[in-house]
Amino acid sequence: MIVAGGTDLYPNMKRRQFEPKTLVGLRAVSELRRVEGSAERGLTIGAGMTLTQISQHPVVAQAYPALAYAAGVVSTAQLRNMGTIGGNLCLDTRCNYYNQSYHWRKSIGFCMKKDGDICLVALSSPRCWAVSSSDTAPVMIALGASVRLVGPPSGGERVIPAQALYRDDGMEYLTKAPHEILSEIMLPPADGLRTAYLKLRRRGAFDFPILGVAVALRLAGDGTCTHAKIVLGAVASYPVETQHAASLLIGQKLTPEVVEAAAQAAAKPAKPLDNTDMLLSYRKKMTPVYVARALRQAAGLAMN
Ligand SMILES: Cc1cc2nc3c(=O)[nH]c(=O)nc-3n(C[C@H](O)[C@H](O)[C@H](O)COP(=O)(O)OP(=O)(O)OC[C@H]3O[C@@H](n4cnc5c(N)ncnc54)[C@H](O)[C@@H]3O)c2cc1C
Ligand code: SF4
Repeated sequence: MIVAGGTDLYPNMKRRQFEPKTLVGLRAVSELRRVEGSAERGLTIGAGMTLTQISQHPVVAQAYPALAYAAGVVSTAQLRNMGTIGGNLCLDTRCNYYNQSYHWRKSIGFCMKKDGDICLVALSSPRCWAVSSSDTAPVMIALGASVRLVGPPSGGERVIPAQALYRDDGMEYLTKAPHEILSEIMLPPADGLRTAYLKLRRRGAFDFPILGVAVALRLAGDGTCTHAKIVLGAVASYPVETQHAASLLIGQKLTPEVVEAAAQAAAKPAKPLDNTDMLLSYRKKMTPVYVARALRQAAGLAMN
């Protein structure tokens, strides 16, 4: 397996969720640790940049503030100093029945994501519903980013939209081949983009998101919305882009009624299961609340 900062991979190895025979470390590859470009031309971010570096980068903070914020609220300061943006985008999906020690998992007979046959969240389910829990993945999709993948099976390089990196499957959650390296992330020119990311979690100090809302808007001079993307994290096995909700904003001024209608529509495709922290009913209830807050924040409207 590939290891970057190791902040996800090593704990998973300790719990025997991953049992690789060989690790290939990326930390010495200096080409992965760079940021090039500008807000006007677009930014290329090396996958080996740490989350701390992304959160403090002046162009990211100024032109793509949702990304700086999302990188800055991942886990703890120590883990952000080690954890990379590439590792965050490739983060394993999570589940209460999977992110446990080997002995805990053994005591309940394991589950199909590792060592077992059935899904303990939905017993008759033929698939795993582990949750996409990356903070920066929804933001990258909202920003319209693309990612460069290098190595087998193509033997060369390919560039795909960030959204296309993910699959709605708790086990095969990435479309990249196991030995493909994510080398860089390309952000399009900011061009007046207004962005926001909001994260719901139990403990602000270091918990994973149980809901993440990334929004990106463009507003004309008179306040009419000309571009909108709303992407939800931690509500499914992949980051969920809510196109219908975003379409309700286009051509509209962002009045409280318009924001509320989009927020309610955005919550519809969010179908979280009872396999992460906090009550399912609470997480569902908070989805439109967080979408509305994120839209207001991005648009510079009064918050409540
Ligand atoms: C206590 C704790 C709290 C955490 N809280 C959060 C949180 O709130 N939000 C959050 O998003 N994450 C959280 N994390 C997870 C993790 O710290 C971050 O996601 C971090 O960004 C992972 O990056 P890394 O470089 O350490 O990845 P690694 O652990 O090195 O790798 C993670 C995965 O990505 C693959 N990988 C890494 N780099 C590449 C690459 N360039 N190309 C291809 N594959 C690659 C690895 O093979 C592995 O499968 C937490 C972890 C812990 C232990
Ligand atoms: S969703 Fe089901 S199969 Fe997937 S990790 Fe959880 S219990 Fe296991």
